[in-house]
Amino acid sequence: MNLIQQPPFMLRWAYPGAVWRLDKISKTVYLTFDDGPIPDVTPWVLEVLKQENVKATFFCVGENVENHLDIYNAILKDGHRVGNHSFHHIRGRKFKLNDYLEDVQKSADFISSNLFRPPYGSLTIGQYKALKKNYKIIFWDVLTEDYNQEKTPEDCLNNVKKFTRNGSVIVFHDSIKAAERLRNFLSAAIQHLKQQGYAFGLID
Ligand SMILES: [Zn+2]
Repeated sequence: MNLIQQPPFMLRWAYPGAVWRLDKISKTVYLTFDDGPIPDVTPWVLEVLKQENVKATFFCVGENVENHLDIYNAILKDGHRVGNHSFHHIRGRKFKLNDYLEDVQKSADFISSNLFRPPYGSLTIGQYKALKKNYKIIFWDVLTEDYNQEKTPEDCLNNVKKFTRNGSVIVFHDSIKAAERLRNFLSAAIQHLKQQGYAFGLID
């Protein structure tokens, strides 16, 4: 098992009740896109998903939603799901509980959702317990590493091929950092998953 692309059992165990992977019986996967919406990448992602007839969940940064409300609305109009990814894309472990909760709440003014994903996967147990009262906390089962400058699109595609299994929640990024890699492997990743017989679910 790889510590980066697929989080280990002990880490999952530290946040009881959080979602890493969904139904292991059903041949369904859950595509998620973090850090948007932004004009350079998100509309292109929506176009690919439309062409492939696939729905996904977008964990949006509140600040980006405030600045690009039209793109946020396009996500919803296309039938995708949205989740809260904080307002300023902050690292939980660097913030006091109340400051962190305040940032998440500010984001909730723009993003109506019961789903929350902590940026960088960074969340103290106290923050986790507080947020769990109002949110389903969604981590992931597979990281494509599309944000990593040292990876090629082929590496990202291989992460999808190697680590995806029934119920996998897979992370992509509609961000500037990931854009070049994403453009070169997203369609191939979706087509690979289709060939493997996976259906594409929405996290509820
Ligand atoms: Zn993020």
